[in-house]
Amino acid sequence: MQKPGYYGKWGGAYIPEVLYETFKDLNAAFAAAKADPTFWQEFVDLMATYSCRPTPLTHAANLSRDFGGAQIFVKREDLNHTGAHKANNVMGQGLLVKRMGKTRVIAETGAGQHGVATATMAAKFGLECTIYMGEEDVRRQRPNVFWMEKLGATVVTVTSGSKTLKDAINEAFRDWVSRMDDTHYVMGTVCGPHPFPEMVAWFQSIIGIEARAQISKQFGKLPSRVYACVGGGSNAMGIFQGFLDEPQVELIGVEAGGHGLDSGRHAARLASQDASPGVAQGYHTMFLQNQEGQMMDTYSVAAGLDYVGVSPILTDLWEQGRVRFEAATDKEVMAALELTMKREGIIPALESSHAFVQAYKEAPHMQPDEALIINMSGRGDKDIFTIAQAFNDPSWKDFIITKGAEYAA
Ligand SMILES: *Cc1c(COP(=O)(O)O)cnc(C)c1O
Repeated sequence: MQKPGYYGKWGGAYIPEVLYETFKDLNAAFAAAKADPTFWQEFVDLMATYSCRPTPLTHAANLSRDFGGAQIFVKREDLNHTGAHKANNVMGQGLLVKRMGKTRVIAETGAGQHGVATATMAAKFGLECTIYMGEEDVRRQRPNVFWMEKLGATVVTVTSGSKTLKDAINEAFRDWVSRMDDTHYVMGTVCGPHPFPEMVAWFQSIIGIEARAQISKQFGKLPSRVYACVGGGSNAMGIFQGFLDEPQVELIGVEAGGHGLDSGRHAARLASQDASPGVAQGYHTMFLQNQEGQMMDTYSVAAGLDYVGVSPILTDLWEQGRVRFEAATDKEVMAALELTMKREGIIPALESSHAFVQAYKEAPHMQPDEALIINMSGRGDKDIFTIAQAFNDPSWKDFIITKGAEYAA
């Protein structure tokens, strides 16, 4: 039998000795909550009244017609409170914190989206909240820092190391070790030590449960393919879980191809040849690291996909051949984004646009009586300055104008 917390040979809980009891308590509290159907119902009710769930499944009728292939459906996680699927996870963990009787939450954030979601949850549940953020990210993400503070959180600027996400993770763990009794660490994605991958995947499974019921009702059968972007992997695991037991439904994870897989400037762990197995940040997975095991500098136009590791659950599903991995470059992302805005009146986040790219490449080669689903993890409003800058760059513009024909070819 598989050891708990392992997915194939991936996962585990590589934690400092002092956190052992805290993790034991967390595992017990989570197991009890998971086994209690009233807890899941409480979560569903909370999301229905606070975060617009169930989120709609939208038929992209114009683009389906343009491409002349599969019927394209979009699962609208952008319509969640705070603008992305992250709300599912943080609100779920908030309910768990209440159940455990803890009074304080901490989190680390790179782009700031997880920090804003966590600060929102803390305000709603009356919890004290501290967010760790690298100095470099604080500078780049001013509006998010502003909102976290206005929501009542304390934002701690981390000035050690490279002053980015991985340094913020170290600081947050140091905090947790010093205040285990009253504090819960809100993990933002399906990574980190057990039970976090399982816990975050469970809360995010609400996406897949809804999507399966919706596509069955609206289209009369299951989709042939389901696409999701992959940073840590939480929105992907969320929707994939609705279809994992149906082998005829192909699952596709799309990573950040950045400037291209040959450029060295990307964040593709499983779609590139650049990652290798390793243990870091409390778990075993494929990391973008050098031969000495030092984490590499990753890059993506989408801050939420710019991460060195990937969910151990997805690494296992990739190894089994159940999930196919692809990468989308920054330029392809801008092209898909423009197309989606102009033809469907929908503004996807830069992260989500990676999933749209791969779906648009494949839709023309599928049949009109087939459906595909794109998980739209979040809305693009937050990306306004990046998108504006990209549209000013003439090299991207050429690419944008020629894209439709290219994908359909
Ligand atoms: C954070 C974020 C992601 C990446 O996280 P996953 O855990 O891979 O889902 C993707 N899309 C949006 C909009 C995000 O905010």
